[in-house]
Amino acid sequence: MTIRRTDEDVVMTTQATYRPFTATILGAPRIGPNRELKRAVEKYWAGGIDRTELEAVAANLRRGTWEALTSAGLDSVPVNTFSYYDHVLDTAMMVDALPPRVADVPDEVDRYFAAARGNDDIAPLEMTKWFDTNYHYLVPELGAQTRFALNPAKILGELEEARAQGVPARPVVVGPVTFLALSKAVDGGSAPLERLGELLDVYGELLQLLADRGVEWVQLDEPVLVTDIVDNAGELAERAYQFLGGLAKRPAIFVATYFGELTDALPALARTPVEAIGVDLVAGSGSSVAAVPELADKLLVAGIVDGRNVWRTDLEAALGTLTTLLGATGHVAVSTSCSTLHVPYSLDAEPDVDAALRSWLAFGFEKVAEVVTLARGLREGRDAISGEVAASNAAVEARRVDPRLNNGQVRSRISSIVASRAQRGPADKRRAAQQDRLKLPLLPTTTIGSYPQTSAIRVARADLRAGTIDFAEYERRMKAEIADVIRLQEELGLDVLVHGEPERNDMVQYFAEQLDGFFATQNGWVQSYGSRCVRPPILYGDVARPKPMTVEWITYAQSLTEKPVKGMLTGPVTILAWSFVRDDQPLADTAAQVALAIRDETVDLQAADIAIIQVDEPALRELLPLRAKDKDDYLRWAVDAFRLATSGVADSTQIHTHLCYSEFGEVIGAIADLDADVTSIEAARSHMEVLADLNAAGFSNSVGPGVYDIHSPRIPGVEEMATALREALDSVPAERLWVNPDCGLKTRRVDEVVASLRNLVAAANEVRAG
Ligand code: GLN
Ligand code: ZN
Repeated sequence: MTIRRTDEDVVMTTQATYRPFTATILGAPRIGPNRELKRAVEKYWAGGIDRTELEAVAANLRRGTWEALTSAGLDSVPVNTFSYYDHVLDTAMMVDALPPRVADVPDEVDRYFAAARGNDDIAPLEMTKWFDTNYHYLVPELGAQTRFALNPAKILGELEEARAQGVPARPVVVGPVTFLALSKAVDGGSAPLERLGELLDVYGELLQLLADRGVEWVQLDEPVLVTDIVDNAGELAERAYQFLGGLAKRPAIFVATYFGELTDALPALARTPVEAIGVDLVAGSGSSVAAVPELADKLLVAGIVDGRNVWRTDLEAALGTLTTLLGATGHVAVSTSCSTLHVPYSLDAEPDVDAALRSWLAFGFEKVAEVVTLARGLREGRDAISGEVAASNAAVEARRVDPRLNNGQVRSRISSIVASRAQRGPADKRRAAQQDRLKLPLLPTTTIGSYPQTSAIRVARADLRAGTIDFAEYERRMKAEIADVIRLQEELGLDVLVHGEPERNDMVQYFAEQLDGFFATQNGWVQSYGSRCVRPPILYGDVARPKPMTVEWITYAQSLTEKPVKGMLTGPVTILAWSFVRDDQPLADTAAQVALAIRDETVDLQAADIAIIQVDEPALRELLPLRAKDKDDYLRWAVDAFRLATSGVADSTQIHTHLCYSEFGEVIGAIADLDADVTSIEAARSHMEVLADLNAAGFSNSVGPGVYDIHSPRIPGVEEMATALREALDSVPAERLWVNPDCGLKTRRVDEVVASLRNLVAAANEVRAG
């Protein structure tokens, strides 16, 4: 293969003719600046609009996105990053790998939605986290009957749309290695990666087709290459891209990697004929680039603008890094580190951010402007962007000296608590003190915290926001909800009650709104999965708790009953996992500050005579690093933060925690280390296997393996729950076993909850009676 550079910098090889681009992003959000797509697909599912209307909304959003990216100055614009639900599912559809159970659904779009969401007869695909982000993708199922075949309608359709609009379009597809690594084998299918050869043929066909249409560049996303999900990333990368790179006719290939540092896979990719390689310079250092001489012939796409966090780029530092990289490779293009799918659309939608905080932030739209500025700086020199650099420097300096980012009192309190090595007593001593105080029966029954979010609750919240009721009225309505939930639990005969969490819109945002150091956005929505969006708060400063956050609600609930009511808090790791976190100090330090605020709350709850406090950590597993070598360090600080949050109370105060995922795997040891007195876990679907794993990890405190699955509307029978409990008793003695559903009840209907919990209490009684 000969490479010839012409004057206009057009590169011609025997296979492709292309221009190196200079400024791009790896992908864009698609849910709509005002969540238009969410509304449209939900309406479509409910039968409120037809396909034509749905498609019109989608086409409009694509047009708006491309228009914004092109007019901002990107010279290569990602297309095919739009999705009705999920881009991994789109890829499965593209290679004709939807599960056979949806095959009979007549229409293609409905078939796609059936795979995503299921229906009365069809189970949906499993959903799981997209690497270490809060986006969730659908796990493709590859069975023995799966035959890959190219179905290019979506990608070609969007390509033609973009071109008709005059957009410098670069189709984006999940790469073959990542697609297979994220898929699972079902029904006698072989291990997905064993099918790489077959799948490469289909990708080859796609590339050929794109070349026929005159496509200059194609982007293949291979984030899996920066992880330990595959243990032979280099080999797989080389095999896939030797093959695709070697095709006789194809567009120029850009392999995008993100969410971490490329190690073995970087030299491997550099040895293949692909034309461009993308590296994440936010999650990784890029230090290995200079050590790979083959990169001299490639376009290095430098992901220097953080695509998944909300901070403004330090342009001076970024330009320095880019200039150094330029010395090591043939061409450098500027890019976001990953798709901006993970950040809100634009800061313009946030009128309430104070001027200082605003100057430190960049959302999706602002990030595009940063990319364009940096590309200009790289091309024309620093002087060409001196105004932008000066503004960026001013923001960096203002952020560095802002007193909100350095609260001496918080920092010294943490140091002194850590230095004092304050600890609660040994677990058996605590158990005895708690039993003296609580006098609970064997196999105590409880729930995880939330009760159904009724329409009265939603109306009250909306009325408060709209200003049609004042806070006193809102509080009155919430207390009425709490009173209902307490009455219901007494009637059902549960042993440990909860207040039901009616006042919480979200288990993280509720606390973020009350803590110093957080900013809760008004419109900062990001897609979590499908049509579901979340609004992560921005954790920008040192965290402190100006006043109690939950005590009034909990003590009100406790005043209505003789039974113990659990204080209900969200743990530090979960608060971090579901927020945009500061990037100017180690996450461990931020975790300690959040932990201190939660600790202060536990102390106040205890002082108000609350005997049981639950600190939820459903996200403990979510933050687990992608590389094995980083895992121990994470688990150490995560456990330390939980213990800092929960060790300020007396031995007679019982600490509970709740964890959500049944596949605990690598975090099982950490669960034991949390040393909560009682841990409730999702176990209904994993048939108590997790108890055996916990025992093996040395866990010897009390545990409440969920006895039924709240994610389904099905009412569990008494016998099946009694059987689950008896099974649990094989692994855990009765003195340590609790009885509870597997997660909070807020998504269920009241009638489902009443019937299920009635059976749960009956099951506990039956097993107690022996
Ligand atoms: N206490 C919370 C609830 O019951 C826990 C939610 C969760 O596990 N994610 O809703
Ligand atoms: Zn849960």
